[in-house]
Amino acid sequence: MAPSHVLRCCQRGLAWIPVIFIALVVCWSYYAYVVELCIYTIPSTGEKIIYLVVFHLSFIMFVWSYWKTIFTRPANPSKEFCLPKAEKEQYEKEERPEAQQEILKRVASSLPLYTRTGAGAIRYCDRCQVIKPDRCHHCSACDMCVLKMDHHCPWVNNCVGFSNYKFFILFLAYSLIYCLFIAATVLQYFIKFWTSDLPDSHAKFHVLFLFFVAAMFCISILSLFTYHLWLVGKNRSTIEAFRAPVFRNGPDKNGFSLGFTKNIAQVFGDQKKYWLLPVFTSPRSIVPRSDVPSGHTKASLWTEIGFT
Ligand SMILES: [Zn+2]
Ligand SMILES: [Zn+2]
Repeated sequence: MAPSHVLRCCQRGLAWIPVIFIALVVCWSYYAYVVELCIYTIPSTGEKIIYLVVFHLSFIMFVWSYWKTIFTRPANPSKEFCLPKAEKEQYEKEERPEAQQEILKRVASSLPLYTRTGAGAIRYCDRCQVIKPDRCHHCSACDMCVLKMDHHCPWVNNCVGFSNYKFFILFLAYSLIYCLFIAATVLQYFIKFWTSDLPDSHAKFHVLFLFFVAAMFCISILSLFTYHLWLVGKNRSTIEAFRAPVFRNGPDKNGFSLGFTKNIAQVFGDQKKYWLLPVFTSPRSIVPRSDVPSGHTKASLWTEIGFT
């Protein structure tokens, strides 16, 4: 096996460490809550049942959305964005950047493209050899161009983008609910152990840690969740929040915003009944607000980006 191949395999393996860490914390929290708190510590049967039912509901939704965020493959640009064979050969032979741009412009004229590079050129990925659709960026960790790329998240060892952004938001929401519920229900037993109202047992250690861990995760997830809700309301990705997309008539940080309600539908879809479920419901389109030529409605500019 070539050394570079071994190195790549090692890198891929190491990238799973944060995910394994989270999985271990979640498994321990399940054991600590169900066995140590509900079975060994809580005396009232009614309280036990209510806690266990709500706990399992939030646990299932949290694990489901986390799973979907991790294992949903990032969406790549469709074949139409690759250069046709003749143009590709011409592009590779050509050494002058201006001439290469002319080739790209010719191919791009038939594509639904509204954004450009900062210098006004067609956005092209040399690594994937593809014209980048609007909102698409190359991820060096995944080594591919990802549609509506938001960021590469080490905690899910995956790119967060068009195909899993809804799952990512739900993962943040359900993990927040999971941690809040644990912290809120554990608090009284945490105080009882602290004030010695409950006898010292092995459950004490688990309950104390459960409270600290849940409270700590609550604080960190809350800030990230609030930030992403704000981004959804603006129809902006994290990348676009840091650097405004450049349209034909210049940069516009609100270039993709369609108004609050439609911006939410861009991630969650039109049917509210599916909003809280980690199933794919985002519309398969990119809707730029800028560059709407007169005589066109925004709806007529909805562009199918397709999947590979
Ligand atoms: Zn690329
Ligand atoms: Zn990535």
